[in-house]
Amino acid sequence: MKCRGAVMRGVGRDWEIEEITLDPPREGEVLVKMAVAGVCHSDDHFTTGDMVPTPELAAIMEATGAPPLDYFPLLGGHEGAGVVEEVGPGVRSVQPGDRVSFSFIAACGACRWCVSGMTYLCDNGAMMLATEMTTDGTCRRHVGDEDLTAMTQLGTFAEYAVLAEHSVIKIDDSIPLEAASLVSCGVTTGWGSGTVGVGTQPGDTVVIVGTGGVGINAVQGARAAGANAVVAVDPVEFKRDTAKFFGATDTSPSVEEAIGLVRELTNGVMADRVVLTPSVLHAELLAPALMLTRKGGTCLMTAVPKFEVNMVPLLLVDMLQSCKTLKGLIYGGMNPRASMPMLLSMYRSGNLKLDELVTRRYRLDQINEAITDMREGRNIRGIIEFD
Ligand SMILES: [Zn+2]
Ligand SMILES: [Zn+2]
Repeated sequence: MKCRGAVMRGVGRDWEIEEITLDPPREGEVLVKMAVAGVCHSDDHFTTGDMVPTPELAAIMEATGAPPLDYFPLLGGHEGAGVVEEVGPGVRSVQPGDRVSFSFIAACGACRWCVSGMTYLCDNGAMMLATEMTTDGTCRRHVGDEDLTAMTQLGTFAEYAVLAEHSVIKIDDSIPLEAASLVSCGVTTGWGSGTVGVGTQPGDTVVIVGTGGVGINAVQGARAAGANAVVAVDPVEFKRDTAKFFGATDTSPSVEEAIGLVRELTNGVMADRVVLTPSVLHAELLAPALMLTRKGGTCLMTAVPKFEVNMVPLLLVDMLQSCKTLKGLIYGGMNPRASMPMLLSMYRSGNLKLDELVTRRYRLDQINEAITDMREGRNIRGIIEFD
């Protein structure tokens, strides 16, 4: 079938709305009609080149035997929700008419990591940016006579998507598709980071650095996990104000200024947990972030760093003698198949704010405007609505 989708053809280019071709779903695959797509920062990392390896890093990756990365042409979008239109042979977890949210890792449920409760580490994660399907290694998406890569095996910036059954999660009919879309990436990643990911305990002081679409949910999560103080750090005043609405007790425009504030709040002990959710994770952020972290505390990296050899200045003597943990985590350490229904039932009970996250709604043709608004810090979450 043919439909319209937003395609990126190279670093620095705009998204272009093109006609794309989707093959029918094969064994273990489903065809979904898209209802809502979220505009999350990770899509923009391809436009800016942050997610494209520098020559230095590419050489190291090649030496270690990693396959060369060729993302373009790339169909954008890794957050969304829709309705199943058709299922291929062997599909059991969903049927036509079901509402589904998406997981940006097509977790297989059978590998060592999946069966150990870490589906965010599923071996299928290695194919997150592959052009081929995780199901049988062949391509289902095309533009002109080229095969098309879909962002994290999803490609939600299109009217339809052919997906592995492993990428879709059935949600309750009573849940609005907009809410289902929000938990697809940003909410789950942020909530997980502020709770189980960084290990928040009742009474903790938690600092969230960057309170956009992901960090704002780390604020909600940390508060729900019982944090006594949640400090939201963001240079944008509107985001600091929004963070207060979502449960932040204090705010600061920069990490440097937050150090003094947290010292005061904790009588010099510093923060039990620090979560890093800025738009791009720059190496220079880590030294001050670890100064914010108390001895024995945890600093969590959730944001996407630039795809290069990052030289990180760490005070090793402080890391060791203060027993600090610096941790990296995907999906906030959540398992989408369990976490998304849980978060949506919290939403239904009024214990999780989702509707309030949406700053602006766009049509697919406005994709570049939506990306610009995100980049300029005007949105907590922008979403694309389909018919
Ligand atoms: Zn995302
Ligand atoms: Zn797996």
